[in-house]
Amino acid sequence: MDQLIVDATVVTLDPARRILHGADVLVRGGRIEAVGGGAAAQAAAGAERIRASGKALIPGLVQAHVHLCQTLFRNRADGLELLDWLRQRIWPFEAAHDERSLDASARLGIAELIRGGTTAILDMGTARHTDVIFEAAEGAGFRLTGGKAHMDHGADLPAGLREATEASLREAEALCGRWHGKGLARYAFAPRFVLSCSDGLLREVAQLARRLGARLHTHASENAAEGEAVRERFGAPNIEVLHRFGLTGSDVALAHCVWPTEGEVELLRATGSHVVHCPASNLKLASGIAPIPDFLARGIHVALGADGAPCNNDLDAFVEMRLAALLHKPRFGPGAMPAAQVLELATLGGARALGLEAEIGSIEPGKRADLALVDLQRLHTTPIGDDVCGAIVHAARSSDVTDVWIEGRRVLRDRALTTLDEERIVATARSESDRIAQTL
Ligand SMILES: [Zn+2]
Repeated sequence: MDQLIVDATVVTLDPARRILHGADVLVRGGRIEAVGGGAAAQAAAGAERIRASGKALIPGLVQAHVHLCQTLFRNRADGLELLDWLRQRIWPFEAAHDERSLDASARLGIAELIRGGTTAILDMGTARHTDVIFEAAEGAGFRLTGGKAHMDHGADLPAGLREATEASLREAEALCGRWHGKGLARYAFAPRFVLSCSDGLLREVAQLARRLGARLHTHASENAAEGEAVRERFGAPNIEVLHRFGLTGSDVALAHCVWPTEGEVELLRATGSHVVHCPASNLKLASGIAPIPDFLARGIHVALGADGAPCNNDLDAFVEMRLAALLHKPRFGPGAMPAAQVLELATLGGARALGLEAEIGSIEPGKRADLALVDLQRLHTTPIGDDVCGAIVHAARSSDVTDVWIEGRRVLRDRALTTLDEERIVATARSESDRIAQTL
């Protein structure tokens, strides 16, 4: 059935970056059929009409670095830097996951993401049970690009996560075969980070992903101590090491990139790699502040992500947008990271990082209908003046999202999730989190 979104302020993110006031958008099947003038006339008789007066219709937000497997560990890993955070909290928690707890973790994360207007993510799983994450996304009608984490190196890994190189690669290959291109799912190969991977794995995983036409996703240059450990092992900085193994390129998303050398910044640019900026995570783990305005000035692709719940502690794209907009101003000036640019990173930037820019990331006829409606008539968003992007990035909150569509399916309707049972998800997440914590 046709759905006609009526009288919205449409932030198109189209090539002209048009913002249409009092405009209609026609959704037919899974796609955007028409935008603005003529959309109403093309709607079939009996089309469902969704009144959007006072609301902004934006492309569904895309977060290009998330760990759904960690949502269950929210609020259980505060006050630590990256390597201690991983060794003392996150890896033991991940090692304790079974299918039931991982399912609870993924559903909790997906429900929060949809409610906050995020319609697609690039996810990094844990080492095991990865099918569960894809199944949770499929059940929710959520656009997931993801994959298992590879972890076959390092004396500090818990036994429950440590993998044999060949088995790790073959499991990922099988997962890719099952999920890549199935419905809304895409596979992304995810060596966790240089320190948790053997040389052989790093070399082979890049070749494997390219042979299978899947994306690559890893962490890079997040923390200074991590960087020193990489230099100790390879005699070179982190991103340069990744490049040697083939882990840079337009099909690669690198989370963080907080501490790049000048040579590495040039590598990011020359290879067309995607940097995923995770400002809340970088602040909370005291990692540092990535030089994002420098990256953008050099033409480097940038996307946003919340990272995992235990280093954030939420999965709220509005918080990431606001932090990304604010964080760089003291160093680069008040004009740095204008709201319209930040909104672009959270939509088109994410779509590019997932390799889906031809399908999602903007509101244009022919694209997939991944959309979010944001109420701009709340106290804290009134008045919006003449800067809709400013209102969205600097004032709006995830709780202002009233409706969300993914592939034309209305997965949030008048603030109610339609594909997920919110009450049950919250109750199950509580009990599963306690159960897993008790096993440690
Ligand atoms: Zn991460």
